[in-house]
Amino acid sequence: MSDTVKYLLDESRIPKTWYNIAADLPEPPVPPLHPGTGQPIGPDDLAPLFPMALIGQEVSAEREIEIPEPVREIYRQWRPAPLYRARRLEKALDTPAKIYYKYEGVSPTGSHKPNTAVPQAFFNAEEGTKRITTETGAGQWGSSLAYAAQIFGIEVDVYMVKISFQQNPYRRSLMQTYGARCVASPSEETNSGRAILAEHPDSPGSLGIAISEAVEMAAGRDDTKYSLGSVLNHVLLHQTIIGQEAMEQMDMAGDDPDIVIGCAGGGSNFAGLAFPYVGRNIREGKKVRIIAVEPASCPTLTRGKFTYDFGDTANLTPLVKMHTLGSSFVPSPIHAGGLRYHGMSPLVSHLLDLGLIEARSQDQIECFEAGVQFARSEGIVPAPESTHAIRAAIDEALECKKNGESKTILFNLSGHGYFDMQAYTDYFDGKLSDEAYDEDALARSLAAVPEVAAE
Ligand SMILES: *Cc1c(COP(=O)(O)O)cnc(C)c1O
Repeated sequence: MSDTVKYLLDESRIPKTWYNIAADLPEPPVPPLHPGTGQPIGPDDLAPLFPMALIGQEVSAEREIEIPEPVREIYRQWRPAPLYRARRLEKALDTPAKIYYKYEGVSPTGSHKPNTAVPQAFFNAEEGTKRITTETGAGQWGSSLAYAAQIFGIEVDVYMVKISFQQNPYRRSLMQTYGARCVASPSEETNSGRAILAEHPDSPGSLGIAISEAVEMAAGRDDTKYSLGSVLNHVLLHQTIIGQEAMEQMDMAGDDPDIVIGCAGGGSNFAGLAFPYVGRNIREGKKVRIIAVEPASCPTLTRGKFTYDFGDTANLTPLVKMHTLGSSFVPSPIHAGGLRYHGMSPLVSHLLDLGLIEARSQDQIECFEAGVQFARSEGIVPAPESTHAIRAAIDEALECKKNGESKTILFNLSGHGYFDMQAYTDYFDGKLSDEAYDEDALARSLAAVPEVAAE
């Protein structure tokens, strides 16, 4: 008999609204700025890239935003996602702490990303979009958008970070299976791609470069929009379905977390689990600790500057105030491809600045160690990204053991790692290293961040 305990909600309990943390913030975040004028951007500036419904969500201050019924209908295939109590892991750690995890790997593509891919495709279809361009790191986002867009008859062009394109051929095939076109980035298809290749023919690519390519292609065509899988307010909004379900499931378990943990690349799965808890902390004066975990090789929250910067390498996007390593920073090619982004969601950055959340960074090898220990106790092989959350959860549980404290820890298992077995192979073959970032490259990249008066 399994020691793992599973808490399942009835389908009727799928939330009817997303939770918008903007309604509860003690101070609003500063607005994005137009790169040319330095003035706050308006809906019209974003209209070439996004459907109006998503732009409305991006700037909304309403606490609850309705989930359209056709979207809930699709969510029903895998939602509500299960919450597990990891009793076997607790036993292996010999800790008095209780460890729970919300498992998002049950979606069709194996991660939390369809939670936003489906509504993004839905709102695009409503407004007549024929094609969507996007970027992808490890391929989780590209495959999720490819899956969602084909439900609504929309074509997808995915610019995939070149190093991941080479490391992860099966995610590429998955995108093809759903009917998307997948291009290694930097590519020869765009001005931004060609400019990078002229200077660095061997560039491994980065999310910042791939975003430039996708944005350039969408801006140039009337029937084409652009879609982002993380970072933006509306993406984080869609992911809050995770935390809302988790709260109900923790109630079913008769427990309430003292510590909530998520890994953070652009911040969306972290925010999805954590924001409903942050909002409750603010509204009810609770003191649940909320921890975002990032890779030591791409330490946006722990080493980056909180300042206005571009979201992409070619500086085509609006300027947003966020924790950033500089838009020209190219993170080392760690296996957690989904965490290799130079910036961080402005909302997550703002919460860190306000002291409402904590951040820490973890090295690659200690994360794989945690991932393997988790797989041996709970059976699920975690995505390399998710192992960062597991590392922190295990460390907190071991801290409880040291102090004889019985805390309740909840973390987000953002996805499974069954498409990432090459990463595990490299780990077992001793081929992984703790890729430090280049201090000089970081200093150069940070020095190139634009000076913006509105700060
Ligand atoms: C994309 C991805 C991440 C990182 O993105 P966030 O927006 O920070 O959540 C983490 N885990 C998995 C499984 C992913 O696919």
